[in-house]
Amino acid sequence: MMLLSSLIGPARPPTTTQSEIDANLPIALYNENIVTEYDLLGNAEKCQVCLCDYITNEEIRVLNCHHGFHRECIDKWLTEGSNKCPICRGVGVPPRESETNNSGPIPTTSTGLDSMGPPFF
Ligand SMILES: [Zn+2]
Ligand SMILES: [Zn+2]
Repeated sequence: MMLLSSLIGPARPPTTTQSEIDANLPIALYNENIVTEYDLLGNAEKCQVCLCDYITNEEIRVLNCHHGFHRECIDKWLTEGSNKCPICRGVGVPPRESETNNSGPIPTTSTGLDSMGPPFF
């Protein structure tokens, strides 16, 4: 796994933003059905960030790896710590395609200009 992280490199910041979290990760209210409803993995009865048991109707944020945490706990973790699941280190908020395209200048081989200008021969 060390190889993988060195391949990806520092192009993407290790944290994410609150708006990205809200746009990508659902919030569930904790109840006895949440484990089956969201297919939660691991210890689904307590938050592994603050190690507190969930209380009915508390807001739980469910990551794509099916690990759940308190909304406040995982939001703080993802925005101030790292954009990774605290348990399995799976990606928190998945990177967007449009952002990765901005990582470097794209050489423009425009054919539009050529057709406008005078022919060279
Ligand atoms: Zn918590
Ligand atoms: Zn996880």
